[in-house]
Amino acid sequence: QEMSEQNSTLNQRLKQSSEEIDNLRQYLREARAEALTDGLTGVANRKYFDETIRMRIAEAREEGADLCLVMGDIDHFKTFNDRWGHQTGDQVIRFVASSMTAHTLPDHLVARYGGEEFAIIMPRTSLERAQKVANNVRSAIQAKKLMRRSTNEPLGQITISFGISMLTASDTTQSFIERADSCLYQSKKNGRNKVTTEAETQNQSAA
Ligand code: GH3
Ligand code: MG
Ligand code: MG
Repeated sequence: QEMSEQNSTLNQRLKQSSEEIDNLRQYLREARAEALTDGLTGVANRKYFDETIRMRIAEAREEGADLCLVMGDIDHFKTFNDRWGHQTGDQVIRFVASSMTAHTLPDHLVARYGGEEFAIIMPRTSLERAQKVANNVRSAIQAKKLMRRSTNEPLGQITISFGISMLTASDTTQSFIERADSCLYQSKKNGRNKVTTEAETQNQSAA
């Protein structure tokens, strides 16, 4: 009888320990997800972007597949913030993030790269396809009639500029990002509310 009692106590302890482990696993999963998420928008944060771009570059090289990087930056956002205030600015940042999520595929990673800058990593995607997606996001944002939540005033038109690079054999993570950035800069230079791909900047410098 004593042995059978000992056995059942042991079994109970074992069950408790395994429940504790399950809880800890769940907690770790949630803590990791939270550490990789941008608090304001709910999209991936910079840390998640940094991890993912390295992983996607390695994967693209293994598969010999296309990989595109879209960088976006809200136009004249400083003026907008000065006029409407930081809170309303935050509302716009959230709207931009959700427009990106709405127009991309599940294996595209939408990330908040910095304050009002976003990135989308698009595995197995051609430059033309990436350009179409970015253009859909761009026109959805420009078409939206945003209202200030607190006062219901119309906020006018919000626009965003994009730049897109496609991974090459000699790219480093840094050069891949820099080329998307310099396309974005071209979009800004050419009047904003535009999508510029590497194909176009190459044509321009060749012309
Ligand atoms: P450009 O068209 O050349 O991009 O002009 P810009 O005014 O958008 O560029 P700039 O980089 O000078 O300004 C970015 C502004 O974004 C400055 C800052 O006030 C605002 N900003 C950055 N992060 C946040 C944020 O988290 N919330 C809000 N509301 N504003 C932010
Ligand atoms: Mg900026
Ligand atoms: Mg800006």
